[in-house]
Amino acid sequence: MKKIDLHSHTLISDGTLTPNDLVERAKAKGVEMLAITDHDTVDAYEQLSPASYDGLKIIPGVELSTQWRGVGVHVVGLNLSLDSASIKEGVARQEKARADRAQIIAKRLTKLVGPIDFNRVSEIANHSQIGRPHFAQHLVELGVVKNTSTAFKKYLGDGKPGDVKQCWAELPNIIDWIVKAGGVAVLAHPLKYKMTWTKRSALLDDFIAAGGRGMEVVSGQQTKQETDRLARLCVEKGLLASCGSDFHQSSQWSDIGAMSAFPTVCKPIWLDW
Ligand code: AMP
Ligand code: MN
Ligand code: MN
Ligand code: MN
Repeated sequence: MKKIDLHSHTLISDGTLTPNDLVERAKAKGVEMLAITDHDTVDAYEQLSPASYDGLKIIPGVELSTQWRGVGVHVVGLNLSLDSASIKEGVARQEKARADRAQIIAKRLTKLVGPIDFNRVSEIANHSQIGRPHFAQHLVELGVVKNTSTAFKKYLGDGKPGDVKQCWAELPNIIDWIVKAGGVAVLAHPLKYKMTWTKRSALLDDFIAAGGRGMEVVSGQQTKQETDRLARLCVEKGLLASCGSDFHQSSQWSDIGAMSAFPTVCKPIWLDW
């Protein structure tokens, strides 16, 4: 089976590699099809030098943030036309939301732990999109927490003061942008949301009703049991299946192209790409 990775990040969002370095790493790992899916931005594609593609098919993508019933949810848009007005407008709206949100997060953290150096946070974010991982790194630097995982546990994770999500566009809107840009909307990493399987099924029903067509059945490292359960859900809902490492950096996250086996019962989303 071809090595496919349809979920990855660069330093334009919260990854560590430049777009070209990410492509080089993917090639070195034998990946044949890659989507760069930065959080709420498609700027990575402007930096890619076409010469670096050879042997590797690039599928234009994005990972959009939203919330559903109070849970932060991510939707990956794949095979988009990056020139389309809908995705340009959508991403611009999310980028503005992310910038405003960063100010809110900084204020909330300041109340809790003392002054936050916003310029430093922006520097950590390479002066591009600011996300919670950049705040986490800053809290470590300040000596407030000993590592980023504690920063999420105490300040930035689900339901904590730094988990600001009311700024994002609604689920139907973000799916609409993707569909109007000629792409397919895929529910990202379904196991990452803290919810029961009943609720997860309801999320998928709403996602499908809004025009969503796929779900990540393989995401990063997961057990065979988890993959099998997601595969059954995918088939039951009549969705196409996607797979992606959600690669951010080589030390912490699953490596680019390194995923568990793709379940044969599922219909791959990339078949005609
Ligand atoms: P944001 O896009 O600003 O909402 O930040 C979300 C990102 O934070 C995710 O895409 C992950 O890269 C990262 N993240 C989420 N939870 C954790 C965690 N518990 N530990 C480390 N990183 C996390
Ligand atoms: Mn991330
Ligand atoms: Mn995500
Ligand atoms: Mn991701």
